[in-house]
Amino acid sequence: MKMLRESAVFTSLFFVVLAQVQCATTRSEGIGPQGLLGEGTPFETPWYDHRGPEDGPTILITGGMHGNEPAGAAAAEAIASWTVQRGRIVVAPRMNPPALAANQRLIPGLEEPIGNLNRHFPTRGEVLEGVATDLWALFEEVQPDWVLDIHEGFAFRRINSGSVGSSIISCVDERAIELAQKMIAAVDETIEEEDRKFTLLRNPIESSFARAAWENARVPSMILETTYGKYPLPDGKERRYSVSYRARQHRLMVHTFLTELGMEPCSPDVLIDPRITGDRVRVAIYDDLGASVGGASDLERVLSEYDRVETRRLCSVDVNAGMLSQFDVVLHPGGSGSGQADSLGESGRAKEIEFIRDGGGYLGVCAGGYLAACNYSWSLAILDARTVDTKNGNWRRGRAELEIELTAAGLGLFGDMDPSFDVKYANGPIYAPGKRDEIPDYETLALYRGEVADNGTSKGVMPGTPALIRGRFGEGRAVAFSPHPEDTRSIQHFIRDAVIWAAGRD
Ligand SMILES: [Zn+2]
Repeated sequence: MKMLRESAVFTSLFFVVLAQVQCATTRSEGIGPQGLLGEGTPFETPWYDHRGPEDGPTILITGGMHGNEPAGAAAAEAIASWTVQRGRIVVAPRMNPPALAANQRLIPGLEEPIGNLNRHFPTRGEVLEGVATDLWALFEEVQPDWVLDIHEGFAFRRINSGSVGSSIISCVDERAIELAQKMIAAVDETIEEEDRKFTLLRNPIESSFARAAWENARVPSMILETTYGKYPLPDGKERRYSVSYRARQHRLMVHTFLTELGMEPCSPDVLIDPRITGDRVRVAIYDDLGASVGGASDLERVLSEYDRVETRRLCSVDVNAGMLSQFDVVLHPGGSGSGQADSLGESGRAKEIEFIRDGGGYLGVCAGGYLAACNYSWSLAILDARTVDTKNGNWRRGRAELEIELTAAGLGLFGDMDPSFDVKYANGPIYAPGKRDEIPDYETLALYRGEVADNGTSKGVMPGTPALIRGRFGEGRAVAFSPHPEDTRSIQHFIRDAVIWAAGRD
């Protein structure tokens, strides 16, 4: 490590890679950011600073050091908008933007240990160049009383002792260990299964930020770890917690920590800065069971390119806790419509319907379009649209690039463009009017011109049916996309335009 650190070859390699990695956009401009780490490099990332009205401890919180641990970044991003009555919280939620964008542990193009951002903090020595140096400078500037670094492991510690997943790794300090035990007790209370509960570990790994904080400056520190890997089900299948559920576990641990220190934090359910209003649209992306993992990520990535839109992920527990009230629009991605309805549960579905009726917005893509329809026992019935040619559950029309054509209303919403083009289709709903009196009729934004009819579905049914629709529901607005505009660069702005319209900001 030391040899590598001092090697001129490495240093130049590091900067070559820095220059090559595409600059990831930061999502949190405007309200909040106090400054930038790694300014002017591909690692440029905001940090946030909140001081309560009364004196108290200063806590430095980091997330997103490893790019394949998205819940750490998501939790820290939420915590960056928390308030406390006493003390100060300084949060750098997305420490490694290039790795987060690539969804990989290491800095793209670099190997262990150099590519591992959380091995850049040697004890009793200099930290490496780049964003790690900036973080260390921030550490020295704010002189925190505590450091919390938020991560994820690949497996549940109690199932696989080779992983640190679902654990707190505390520095060897009596007070830290006592607090970690309380944090674990709080999160364990939400977990029924013994083998998915948390474990207390000691002594963060050499060259990690947490270890350096403790050994270089005697600042007590912890690494918090949820698990991104799967757990076994009784039927032999496997499942993983959604990013939003894992972020919820992190928030609960950090909230317990701040509470134990007497800082009186706001609710752990705060996901987004309530001061983000006006022209900016706050979008909740549903990522729980039934939502495809890639679909939620794609939509999140597409919307992150637009300054007017701020996204957070929500799980079923979040929706059921009433957390949609923090948002302007809820977005349901592809996957399974009935699966998402199932994971929401009856009470979650009622919360969504109430949210839209009271003025909220809805965008459903593919499976999310089935969820918005009015003809299933489990659908939300927020659009007066029923799905056709799905007899015997045969909704698998197949996947294809299909031509669609924008209507005048579509051109009005999405801007002046060639009205006909191809878009990716993957078993999305085929709509017809639902003829439900209590729901206003939908407006068609685009029609299918092409067709796919695999797996025994009827031919000739699809052309001329609506591909993109919108409607009103109570005080709110709903949009449904049968195909996937987010998968085609030239029309991915449809997603942005739809959420802005759904939010009533047109
Ligand atoms: Zn990690």
